[in-house]
Amino acid sequence: MAMPKCEKIATCPFFTSDAGYSPELNKAMRERYCFTDNSECARLHAIERFGVGNVPTWLLPTDHDQLEALEDRGQAQRANGNAP
Ligand code: SF4
Repeated sequence: MAMPKCEKIATCPFFTSDAGYSPELNKAMRERYCFTDNSECARLHAIERFGVGNVPTWLLPTDHDQLEALEDRGQAQRANGNAP
């Protein structure tokens, strides 16, 4: 049974833009995370932790290693040029 759509769809760059990603990859990840189950989406975890404006646009729903690296280095706020 499908879960509700992710509540971040309207503002998430991964969902609102195709830039930098293949259509096939985007489609598969949107179906897996955005439309079915966002509980393991690395982007959602980053948004909740850092705020939507402080999450790199390149971070994919599957980028758990990158999310950990951002957390470890404390660079999430600087990733989009928002230096503290
Ligand atoms: S990529 Fe993640 S945070 Fe963005 S809309 Fe999809 S499930 Fe939500």
